[in-house]
Amino acid sequence: MILIVDDTPENLISLKKVLEINNFEVDTASSGEEALKKVLKNAYVLIILDVQMPGMDGFEVAEAISGYSKAKETAIIFLSAANTESKFITKGYSSGGLDYITKPVDMDILLLKVKTFYRIYEQSRKLIEIQNALLEEIEFRKKAENKKDEFISIASHELKTPLTSVKGYVQLLERSVDKGDIPTVKKHLKKAQIQLDKLNELIADLLDISKIESGKLKFNKKNFQLDELFESVLEIMHQSNPDHKIIKTGTAPQQLYADETRIEQVIINFLTNAIKYSPGKNEVHINVNIDCDRLYVGVRDFGIGIDEKQQKSVFDKFYRVEETAIHFQGLGIGLYISAEIIRRHGGEIGVKSVLGEGSEFYFTLPLECTTETD
Ligand code: ADP
Repeated sequence: MILIVDDTPENLISLKKVLEINNFEVDTASSGEEALKKVLKNAYVLIILDVQMPGMDGFEVAEAISGYSKAKETAIIFLSAANTESKFITKGYSSGGLDYITKPVDMDILLLKVKTFYRIYEQSRKLIEIQNALLEEIEFRKKAENKKDEFISIASHELKTPLTSVKGYVQLLERSVDKGDIPTVKKHLKKAQIQLDKLNELIADLLDISKIESGKLKFNKKNFQLDELFESVLEIMHQSNPDHKIIKTGTAPQQLYADETRIEQVIINFLTNAIKYSPGKNEVHINVNIDCDRLYVGVRDFGIGIDEKQQKSVFDKFYRVEETAIHFQGLGIGLYISAEIIRRHGGEIGVKSVLGEGSEFYFTLPLECTTETD
């Protein structure tokens, strides 16, 4: 928008008319004081400012405006008497742009100047937009780079831990073998096996991440019995966590069409987290619910819980609740992979949690509705 400031009403009207005919939006002020008020309220691309006005003259107005952050990009064209020296005109104004036209105003020249200022304004607006977008992109990349570095360092640490254990057990094995102590050999072998399984899971998760990124995570969907899946899950969990009681409520005598291994992976991920994030507690519940067309599986723990504000983010890649991350090992990718698996099966994943009281991580999956009629 353009602001014309002139104390002579005829000048105001004729200038306004010409500019409006040329499709410019125009506002007017008949004194310097009124102009300042308007500049404070509205954003103008250009101000056409009469120099000789009673009260505040054009230069004083320009000087005052130069202090307004709102008018930083605003250009000014002074309308001055022919004998005004340009050094006076540049006085006190060094922002958006400056020019002057001598009176009586040659409308063609004025229009040309207005159009030029508008073009420059548009160009600089676009430049600022591009600059902001670039700064945002740089910031985003920096953050991503930091996250990646952090991830690499945590991942290396996580991989090294079971590897170091295996190395230790192999040394112990060597000694036990030398002594011919078979029961101890078996014990160490079992422990080494557990660490190798951990290593295997970690590497599988890392591979899953790269498959998700490249769109290569494939599913092998077929019909299977849900209760058999839960049996297998409970057995696996019992083997690795013999001290924990996992109580399953709700029956699941139902067939599900899905990738059994992947759904098992999600439930095991929920259960492993439920145990990990509830230190000192030894009970976890699995709640299974079947509606006609929907399966609900929830894993409830009585552990540390998650603050409401962070609940959504736990499904993001590499996200770990900062306040608790130092107390628990993890990479922040299990729930991200689980979310992708459930999403790709047309289901929903979520969490209900109260900080300090525990969480219920759940997913739903669509079921084929098979209402039986006698
Ligand atoms: P990881 O456990 O390896 O860090 P996940 O993707 O499985 O990665 O979980 C992401 C984050 O969500 C965890 O770091 C933890 O902060 C939070 N979280 C997951 N499960 C639970 C739970 N049952 N109770 C409390 N916090 C949890």
